[in-house]
Amino acid sequence: MQVHDLIGIGFGPSNVALAIALEEQNHGGQALSTVFLEKQPAFSWHQDMLLDNAHMQISFLKDLATLRNPSSRFTFINYLHEKGRLQDFINLKTFFPSRHEFHDYLAWAASHFEDRCAYGEEVVEVVPEVQNGQVALLRVRSRTRDGELRERLGRNLVVGVGGTPNIPEVFAPLRGSPRVFHSSRYLRSISEHAQPRRIAVIGAGQSSAELFMDLHGRYPSTRIDLIMRGHAIRPSDNSPFVNEVFNAEFVDHVYHRPDHERDAMLRSYWHANYSAPDLAIIETIFNVCYEQRVRGEERHRILRRHEVLGARDLGGSIRLELQDLDAGPEASHANQSNEYDLVVLGTGYERRQHRDLLASLAPWVGEIAVDRNYRVSTPAEFRPGIFLQGACESSHGLSDTLLSVTAVRTGEITAALSPAPLGNVPPAPLGNHGPSRRNVAYAARI
Ligand SMILES: Cc1cc2nc3c(=O)[nH]c(=O)nc-3n(C[C@H](O)[C@H](O)[C@H](O)COP(=O)(O)OP(=O)(O)OC[C@H]3O[C@@H](n4cnc5c(N)ncnc54)[C@H](O)[C@@H]3O)c2cc1C
Repeated sequence: MQVHDLIGIGFGPSNVALAIALEEQNHGGQALSTVFLEKQPAFSWHQDMLLDNAHMQISFLKDLATLRNPSSRFTFINYLHEKGRLQDFINLKTFFPSRHEFHDYLAWAASHFEDRCAYGEEVVEVVPEVQNGQVALLRVRSRTRDGELRERLGRNLVVGVGGTPNIPEVFAPLRGSPRVFHSSRYLRSISEHAQPRRIAVIGAGQSSAELFMDLHGRYPSTRIDLIMRGHAIRPSDNSPFVNEVFNAEFVDHVYHRPDHERDAMLRSYWHANYSAPDLAIIETIFNVCYEQRVRGEERHRILRRHEVLGARDLGGSIRLELQDLDAGPEASHANQSNEYDLVVLGTGYERRQHRDLLASLAPWVGEIAVDRNYRVSTPAEFRPGIFLQGACESSHGLSDTLLSVTAVRTGEITAALSPAPLGNVPPAPLGNHGPSRRNVAYAARI
């Protein structure tokens, strides 16, 4: 069996950017044998949320390459140039392309690496290859769409699998119901419903706000409740000083803080990324609700400070038991029970798939800890390098799950694979940038 220098799991923006960095930094002309395994049948970036009117929440300059190598041919600007739209894009006068256009850019970039991506293969397990008491290689097992199991051997692994839909416990029994679905399945699921009368959207982040507006435009007479725990839909703070937390240099700052300081920092900036839609869409939602009041047709409701206590499938509808968190327990309206034709979950993502995939390596890896270059800390007798993309928010900061540092991070990972990645991977560096005890402890949550 061929031994690959590098196996990438997932071929989303993170690993596409890595493919670009590997090509451009290319280890002094020594081409690595690389393969990326992607479970989707073709490149696709959050396809079920490619809503009309949805725009990027990040500048196009934070594309797959610019911040690492502005002269790369894989920049968004070069994409526009090759597509013949550069001047027209300039006339748009925006830093924030539509998500449709950015998807097209990402797919264009990915298309240059078809020869090293196996689409339609889901990685199910990574197991150690032990030789003479050492873990020499990693065996990566994947399943094709036809159910066939495949195996590959690699000297290095980069896990870039993104998030997994977060389904709150209360909705767990309704998994599989066509009437309850997560935003990650939105477009394919909503197309199955012709004219729902009443819809609940759960959550108050960017996705929920976009879902609310999309549903409002899609169904002119449907009633929509946006159900949220918070007091108000709060905007993301993208003012320039706050935005510095998404700068590449800020990763150093976050990574080298003591645990308690890093924790506090993540908490204090949490709203810069989570549960915080753009101000423009909040204003649009407010305007829609206001106009409905003017016309005396209050179809939609923003149910703030409401908790979903229970959810039952009644066959033809879903019943939600709601608690008004601001009403005292004695208040007659503290609990209400509403029926909906559809419930759409804008409840975000969790990032733990890498732990499941690497579970067989636990005797060597223990609690996963990463060094500054995203390399998982392993003992000397474990030779392969394992790198994580997008799973290091707790150690590297809020930018980790976004596109903000992708270009720079892949340059760092590519450099960390040098100078001796091929067949003789040194143990995880424990020098200045190595995982201190502090980070090992902290990394329990990675
Ligand atoms: C609707 C939406 C809009 C967003 N907009 C922005 C934005 O404007 N700006 C921003 O900075 N961030 C945005 N984000 C955040 C998002 O995380 C990043 O844009 C980006 O997708 C991260 O890239 P990734 O490659 O790390 O993860 P992903 O894009 O999630 O890619 C992971 C890939 O791995 C594949 N995969 C997963 N498990 C396996 C497996 N076991 N085997 C094989 N393949 C697997 C998946 O199919 C997927 O293709 C958005 C997220 C969402 C959901």
